[in-house]
Amino acid sequence: MLFSTLSFQPFKKTSGVKIVVIDAGHGGKDPGCNGAIHNEKEVTLAIALKLGNLIEENLKDVKVIYTRKTDVFVELEERAQVANRNNADLFISIHCNAAAKFVTYKDKNGKTQYKTWKDKKGKIHKKEVTNPVPYGSETYVMGIKNEKGKMEVAKRENASMLLEENYEKTYNGFDPSSDEAYIIMSLTTSAYVEQSAKFASLIQSEYNNKAGRIDKGVQRQSIWVLWRTAMPSILTEVGFLTNPIEEKFLGSEKGQTYMASAIFRALRNYKNEVEGKNEKYNDEIENQEALENENLLYQKEHPELKDGSETDVKDIVAENQEPPINNDDKKDIEKYNALIKKADEKLKERKLEDSKKLYTQALDLKKDDAYSKQKLAEITKIEVDIKKGEDDKAKANDAQNKQYNELIAKADKLTADKKWEDAKKKYQEALIAKPGEKYPKQKIKEIEEKQAALSEAQNDTAKINPKDLINNYAGQTKKDTSKKTPSIKGGIEFKVQFTSSDKEIEASSNKLKGLENVGYYKAGAVLKYTAGVFTKPDEAVKYQTKVRDLGYKDAFIVAFKNGERIDYKEALKQVKQ
Ligand SMILES: [Zn+2]
Repeated sequence: MLFSTLSFQPFKKTSGVKIVVIDAGHGGKDPGCNGAIHNEKEVTLAIALKLGNLIEENLKDVKVIYTRKTDVFVELEERAQVANRNNADLFISIHCNAAAKFVTYKDKNGKTQYKTWKDKKGKIHKKEVTNPVPYGSETYVMGIKNEKGKMEVAKRENASMLLEENYEKTYNGFDPSSDEAYIIMSLTTSAYVEQSAKFASLIQSEYNNKAGRIDKGVQRQSIWVLWRTAMPSILTEVGFLTNPIEEKFLGSEKGQTYMASAIFRALRNYKNEVEGKNEKYNDEIENQEALENENLLYQKEHPELKDGSETDVKDIVAENQEPPINNDDKKDIEKYNALIKKADEKLKERKLEDSKKLYTQALDLKKDDAYSKQKLAEITKIEVDIKKGEDDKAKANDAQNKQYNELIAKADKLTADKKWEDAKKKYQEALIAKPGEKYPKQKIKEIEEKQAALSEAQNDTAKINPKDLINNYAGQTKKDTSKKTPSIKGGIEFKVQFTSSDKEIEASSNKLKGLENVGYYKAGAVLKYTAGVFTKPDEAVKYQTKVRDLGYKDAFIVAFKNGERIDYKEALKQVKQ
């Protein structure tokens, strides 16, 4: 299968710049190109993080997504897919250039040969020296024409894929070193070349105007990440790490800040243009003091180098290079790496204080370390958010306490007024306002106990004089005089209680129509009316149904022993015996 059959994302219609993907080139096992001191992956990450911060702080309506925020390896295809998946409006890939010179010698036949060296895996590499000649910045958009022999940048940047585990599968057989591959690639052109080129040229002028870069212009080459992104996308080569003077600039905090600011200003202008706005800025970023190019300054001081001669390479390197790394420094690097690893872990576990301490220690070891600074800033932001969350919670708690106290005060007042049901309701509301509070629970329990005691007192048959019962049955029912009095004396009987009244009900009343053996017993001042008299509980149950059918839906069975009301269950027990 040909790599050209890879599926593409549908192109996105852009009407604004709301989502920006920042791609720090290389990372992890892929260092990118190397200078004498710095390597590409660390410089690109530092600039990427600074750029992201500038956007987040100054363009609040823009969301920043990074393809990597740490020193990790990310596949080329994945970098493009991060942008596609997130429906980005702009893709910015940051890289450093290289143009190393190879060390040559004449063999015994007088023929020029490359000096080589073997890596750990036994692979042969050409030996390189730092090359002071090329310097300057250039920005790439997806190319149509790939001129033979002028594809170094595309070939070098695309070669990162060779480090991937399944690169042949992922890239459907694309060979980043083959010229033919680039011809196929150029057949699919991006709909966004024009927009991308507009953005690229804005970047180039910012590099030149403020950051003191030599403008090597906007270039077109078939670079994988540009080819695969379905939105305006650029790849910027911030400068040459192989030029020791430019390397020093790009490796410095100041240089990285200048490069990130330049890309930021270009992005801000591009965004305004796309969104049809005409804003002018007068802020610190806009008014950044313009730099002079340090290579040009150096040449002024060393007229012998004006023609680009390479005679003093060693001197330039020596002048610009930081002291060679000795064993102590190596230990420091190991110590730094260990600190960062641990700090990252602690941050992941949300152990903020621990990770803060570790990043600060790392920063002590490596002055101006962009990564530690970035992480410390992140932690400060998390801490601010946490503090804000706690304040909000405290405010909510205050409101909750106020509501609770008011409800309790009302409930206590209702309790004092003996308005039990209302008091209970208020205590329940208080419990909803502040679940788990003991006081309202306790009060509800007390009220329920009191209510139970009250209803018990109402039903308390002990207060009823059995004589009252017998007497009151007399003459109550005219229909069946034979059953005027309880049928069984000294035994257990069941009756159906159907209503209560504060005064006697006339025997002729419609209320008693259809009922037999009607009588009542007194519970305090209340007369509780019963109907029927049975010795067998099942008969009472049948009669209960009848009474209920007469309209007394709540009719229930009550039991008496020797004319005294007793517990129904107890009565059932005694009847069974
Ligand atoms: Zn690169």
